[in-house]
Amino acid sequence: MNMTSLPALDALEKTELIETDAVVIGAGPCGLFAVFELGLLDIKAHVIDILDRPGGQCAELYPEKPIYDVPALPVVSGQELTDRLMEQIKPFAPVFHFSERIDALSRTGDGRFRLTSDAGTEFLAKVIVVAAGGGSFTPKRPPLEGIEGYEGKSVFYSVRKMETMRGRDVVIVGGGDSALDWTLNLAPIAKSLTLVHRRDEFRAAPHSVEKMRKLVAEASVRLLIGQVTTLEGEAGQLSSLVVKTAGGPERVPCNAMLPFFGLTMKLGPVADWGLNLHENLIHVDTERFESSEKGIFAIGDINWYPGKLKLILSGFHEAALMAQAAHKVVYPGKKLLFQYTTSSSSLQKKLGVK
Ligand SMILES: Cc1cc2nc3c(=O)[nH]c(=O)nc-3n(C[C@H](O)[C@H](O)[C@H](O)COP(=O)(O)OP(=O)(O)OC[C@H]3O[C@@H](n4cnc5c(N)ncnc54)[C@H](O)[C@@H]3O)c2cc1C
Repeated sequence: MNMTSLPALDALEKTELIETDAVVIGAGPCGLFAVFELGLLDIKAHVIDILDRPGGQCAELYPEKPIYDVPALPVVSGQELTDRLMEQIKPFAPVFHFSERIDALSRTGDGRFRLTSDAGTEFLAKVIVVAAGGGSFTPKRPPLEGIEGYEGKSVFYSVRKMETMRGRDVVIVGGGDSALDWTLNLAPIAKSLTLVHRRDEFRAAPHSVEKMRKLVAEASVRLLIGQVTTLEGEAGQLSSLVVKTAGGPERVPCNAMLPFFGLTMKLGPVADWGLNLHENLIHVDTERFESSEKGIFAIGDINWYPGKLKLILSGFHEAALMAQAAHKVVYPGKKLLFQYTTSSSSLQKKLGVK
């Protein structure tokens, strides 16, 4: 395919306005359970996460580690807990927006909130549930001169839409699960795909490594053992990069570089939303789990109150009480009847129980 016929990658970002009852910021265990508690009270939610999958710390930091203190599950891995929560919230059909970070939020004239993501998606919501955990998972930037000038134009730390990579010379750098998963996913649609890793050993799941080696053997993927030393291009558009290998420097054609060097956790944009903070955590009350701003709730690791314990089970309890309070904002004046899922036919209907 002729590269000149391809649109600039940063021009493919979307801009849309989504109206909803609730926006949940963070798809960690507490954000996911919030969808369930809100759903039981007829509050529809959109969920946004910087990561490209649900589960927050459980899925990103310890997917295979056992957790022993989730009630009624004597042992459950981080990934299994995530999978079970996703199953539990299915009846409420939440809309997920992965690989997007909520950067800004403000109140509109009619009392709702306008939220903007770094991908240009805009939300209008009656309530916000901040379930941002330890803050934004932020990708580690490779130490390459001038890389900032290419970021968002031809260097990307996540892939929002696979189609944007069609027909491009893609270079993926790294040896973990993200690098290998994207190598397998993008190989069929990229014009060329080169995987660069500093050694011929990979931290990714063995079956992904096996599949990647198969693609290398079939010449669908090129594997280069070495380190990227130089980026070459103009006005933010990469044309090639230089990789230092044992056999000397190699120039690789490249229109899109995807470095996967791991993630660090930073408080990120939460600090700029004008909420009362206690040592970088959102100060909430313990009746409603509401912040200093009416209609903005905070649950899970991101909140603080006297006696707070950063445990998953604490976040689950907080989600239940938060939803009761959110109902008053979403449906002002409407009486809320307290009901058990075991005995309420209306709750069971919402859950799709037959
Ligand atoms: C190694 C380890 C072991 C642990 N073991 C246990 C245990 O045994 N039992 C236990 O109860 N707890 C355990 N924990 C703690 C537990 O994982 C946390 O309490 C839990 O993950 C908190 O959930 P959360 O939903 O509040 O936040 P997180 O899991 O941190 O998820 C928050 C999500 O919000 C996203 N986010 C943040 N800011 C934004 C933004 N601006 N826009 C979009 N998305 C955003 C992040 O990307 C993240 O995915 C452990 C933690 C670690 C690191």
